[in-house]
Amino acid sequence: VRAAAPGETRSNCPYCGVGCGVLIEHDGARITGVRGDPAHPANFGRLCTKGATLHLTAGHDTRLLHPEYRARRGEARARVSWEAAIEVAAQRFADVIVEHGPDAVAFYISGQLLTEDYYVFNKAMKGLIGSNNVDTNSRLCMSSAVAAYKATLGADAPPCCYEDFDHADTILIAGANPAWAHPVAFRRIEEARARRPGMKIVVVDPRRTDTAAMADLHLAILPGTDVWLFDAMLHVLLDEGLADEAWIAAHTEGFEALRAHVRGVSPAVAAAVCGVAAEDIVTAARWWGEAPAALSLWCQGLNQSTHGTHNGAALIALSLATGKIGRPGCGPFSLTGQPNAMGGREVGGLANLLPAHRDLANPAHREEVARLWGVDSVPAAPGLTAVELFRAAREGRVKALWIACTNPAQSMPEQALVHEALAACEFVVLQEAFAGTETAAFADLVLPAATWGEKEGTVTNSERRISRVRAAVPAPGEARADWRIVCDFARALAPRIGKPQAAAMFAYDSAQAIFAEHVASTAGRDLDITGLDYSLLEREGPQQWPFPAGARVEEVGARARLYADGRFATPNGRARFVVPWRTLTAEATGVRYPLALTSGRLRDHWHGMSRSGKVARLYGHADEARIELHPRELAGRGLVDGDLVRVSSRHGALVLRVAASDALRPGMAFVGMHWGRRVLNSAGINLLFGGACDPLSKQPELKHAAVRIEPV
Ligand code: SF4
Repeated sequence: VRAAAPGETRSNCPYCGVGCGVLIEHDGARITGVRGDPAHPANFGRLCTKGATLHLTAGHDTRLLHPEYRARRGEARARVSWEAAIEVAAQRFADVIVEHGPDAVAFYISGQLLTEDYYVFNKAMKGLIGSNNVDTNSRLCMSSAVAAYKATLGADAPPCCYEDFDHADTILIAGANPAWAHPVAFRRIEEARARRPGMKIVVVDPRRTDTAAMADLHLAILPGTDVWLFDAMLHVLLDEGLADEAWIAAHTEGFEALRAHVRGVSPAVAAAVCGVAAEDIVTAARWWGEAPAALSLWCQGLNQSTHGTHNGAALIALSLATGKIGRPGCGPFSLTGQPNAMGGREVGGLANLLPAHRDLANPAHREEVARLWGVDSVPAAPGLTAVELFRAAREGRVKALWIACTNPAQSMPEQALVHEALAACEFVVLQEAFAGTETAAFADLVLPAATWGEKEGTVTNSERRISRVRAAVPAPGEARADWRIVCDFARALAPRIGKPQAAAMFAYDSAQAIFAEHVASTAGRDLDITGLDYSLLEREGPQQWPFPAGARVEEVGARARLYADGRFATPNGRARFVVPWRTLTAEATGVRYPLALTSGRLRDHWHGMSRSGKVARLYGHADEARIELHPRELAGRGLVDGDLVRVSSRHGALVLRVAASDALRPGMAFVGMHWGRRVLNSAGINLLFGGACDPLSKQPELKHAAVRIEPV
């Protein structure tokens, strides 16, 4: 890898899961520019509008610069020293743990943390405190994809790589709008199609997004009907002899049950449920079945559902039924929403996981992790997942809550409950780079964190590629690296909860030392990276996992896809078919709430806008929150484009401006997910969405709420 030029530091974009490499231009004190890293295999120098304006987010005007504390609610927080902040955090957590037990505290962290940060948060909760109450905003993002991969392929391991875009003859994009949400990956798909005009692109999305607009076939299904569509496609594949029966027999199990399950789901039956033409379902199935190489991509449209796991499993079944997996241009490929949702999963930073893709429910895995960490045991009881965690806090069962690098007061569903929960906690810590987030209003202790351009560590992108993240400039004020804050806290907490010897578990002097421990934990696991260290990543650039000890870079590069040998990560090596539920959305529309509201990313903004909202030019694409409705819905209510309306769901109400859009069918509505209190002068968009979750993945159904609109 060519060394970065003087005044440039090689790092990664902190926004989406494409994981583009960037070169940060700086003068040693301030970041002055950014450009795409031509040597990074995720983007080869390209950046989207968000990545290309990163340097404009690097000013210090909206940063948290000093720790702040208030001893009592209702008081203003006052500046305190780091020493005092760590002391008070440790003492107040210890007080709760000693009096109420370890399950009375929780960490709610973020897919935007680096892998090393994630690792120590997880270790602090599960190895030191003795609870599994650590969950993350990745629960809102990828947990259904995780559960689907594990149920079918045996491991949380996306089997594909970006190069597959170049080889696929058919790409089926379901519940994803990569044209806006993963722009650099999408550009690669566009280029592949320009080179190979015979490539077919099928998009499954209730909206005619920019991605759907370039598709050869857009299946604008009704919300929540994905499983019916995929079942009907499988029905056609079987009916027309397009399934690979020999491959199914050799490499899978459970197919007969699924075959029987889809027998009655003809295209005509599914068409009536999904609201699309039966012929279009047949066409999609034929394009998939007849293509030498077929690739599926999916994201939140499938994941954020009360049956998100089965949405994913039904889509994966199309790859397995046709043997289109493990070779170029083939396979089921989940697009990761956040920059490091993958890395967080790798270190087990969720309430039901343990490091290196170990399962909390597996006693042998708990013992292995206890040995690795040098503790007596890891608790067996599952921790609270995101929605459960805030419900427990409102009920008083979680009394001390530590939130890092995320803004649940804006981003969680059932926001009214989340606000009550934060108010009900005895002690809320917020570890955050940016000032003034919705969550900050609830925090008793605020700890300023370093952010992009100021931190060292690693991230893993959608294609299992681990990249080094590097600091170009010092963090402003007293902001510190996230891993360091956690380790300081853990060392201060250990003696206060009767475990003084455990302080040594957090005696790291660098992110590199944490990475080395994470690497060691992966030995023999599906994501074995015992051949990786910082120096190899410095020398050779970003690498995909697995990368076992002794592997050469060229060998690993040549094995860019998993399961090429037809052996899967299940105990018997066979992939599994899952018979999916055919439930629809949790909330039905009806007389009181007649519209089906969905939400999604806008092209130029990111999550709750604490970073992207700083850049004036990023408002050029969308300058305010608007709820989009079909023109017929506006006319029926006597509304015109631009009118203000009250949008009400079973969970809350917001005032928004309407926009006419024929990208949606009548009966539907769409709103960008990013807008929060600071730009709406009311709560965030997710106020409208409920907390109903997939019972398998515990991911909430953020893609659907039944609403009504009325003029104000
Ligand atoms: Fe950043 Fe994603 Fe854009 Fe790449 S595509 S520059 S990772 S936001």
